[in-house]
Amino acid sequence: MNDRILLCLCHMSGNEQRFIDEAFADNWVVPLGPNVTGFEKDLEDFFLRDPDLKISPEERALLERKRTVALSSGTAAIHMGLVALGVGRDDEVMVQSFTFSASANPVTYVGATPVFVDSEPDTWNIDPRLLDRAIADRVEKTGKKPKAIIPVYLYGMPAKIDEILEVARKWDIPVLEDSAEAFGSLYKGRPCGTFGSYGALSFNGNKMITTSGGGALICPDEEAYRLVLSYATQSREPFPWYQHERIGYNYRLSNISAGIGRGQMTIAREHLAHHRAVQALYRSLLADVAELELHENPGNDFDSNFWLCTVTFTDGAAVKGDDGCGRPEAMRRHLASRGIESRALWKPMHLQPVFASSPAYVNGVSEDLFSRGLCIPAGPWVGEPEVRRVVEALKEGLC
Ligand SMILES: *Cc1c(COP(=O)(O)O)cnc(C)c1O
Repeated sequence: MNDRILLCLCHMSGNEQRFIDEAFADNWVVPLGPNVTGFEKDLEDFFLRDPDLKISPEERALLERKRTVALSSGTAAIHMGLVALGVGRDDEVMVQSFTFSASANPVTYVGATPVFVDSEPDTWNIDPRLLDRAIADRVEKTGKKPKAIIPVYLYGMPAKIDEILEVARKWDIPVLEDSAEAFGSLYKGRPCGTFGSYGALSFNGNKMITTSGGGALICPDEEAYRLVLSYATQSREPFPWYQHERIGYNYRLSNISAGIGRGQMTIAREHLAHHRAVQALYRSLLADVAELELHENPGNDFDSNFWLCTVTFTDGAAVKGDDGCGRPEAMRRHLASRGIESRALWKPMHLQPVFASSPAYVNGVSEDLFSRGLCIPAGPWVGEPEVRRVVEALKEGLC
């Protein structure tokens, strides 16, 4: 047994193998097949047709119209969302700066430029007022409107999506949600990923559920679903020969990976409950540690999946071994010496060399969080003994 505690390790329910065996038995070892359709249905039942969702009849009707396409990654899902929205060369897309690079990379795949917008302190996600001002400035500077808005739900925390949608409506710009980290997170009772025109999900190995690698795009209706499906399968037209009228992509999820996804969906709710229980345990054990602040839901409208738990060092806090490397890095090294994996928060995109030439609207929030925050282990392999060990090690690392 390995007693290292890792950030977020995938966990198989035991049902995955059955779906994979079926695929082999039927020789469906290809990027389509019953597991792909089955997984899409599982996702739709979970995100769009869950009778237990506490939403209005209007919202329910809106969700009922949506469809979900299974794709080869979350990055592919964001790329397909941009293609479906008609984002192209020389366009601009407003992107949350405080995120993983995969939120912004696909913007460059279509020849567009990401314009980064900073976060607000309570959700850590895109600041709706700064977004509004940034769009106004882009319109003034370039003479045209940005083509899309990509908010992110960092570490699963819902963004203030109502206010973001209000800005989007005001400027008439579509929203593509990067919900890669927010599987099962709710905002006002409605799943993250179902608010915008499109919503991207990721099933990479470290996410809430996994297909080893994979993603999905929640589409507004059947027509958009068909369009994305076509793009993702090389834009084949319905002819007896290979006929193409648009440039296509090879982005469909394989029937084997989808089999893992179907297995994971049988325990998705258990995973979610577990992540929330881990957060609750950190909450109680860190309650009397003034040096550390656990990132929490900022109000009743927010219901994070707590994909990763995160802490920030408060003003007076000092960490042993901080030789100028910064408190998060000093604590990361200390935890590593105790067999515990932790990681710095996402380094904002506007600080990344690769995006140095992209416009950015910055308010200091993401830079401040990056300088004093740390991701600590969560996930299916982290139980009460592990959380206790992490908290003890954290305390020990403080001066
Ligand atoms: C993981 C992730 C992605 C990309 O998903 P992949 O499936 O790894 O391609 C996109 N955005 C964010 C915020 C992510 O965390």
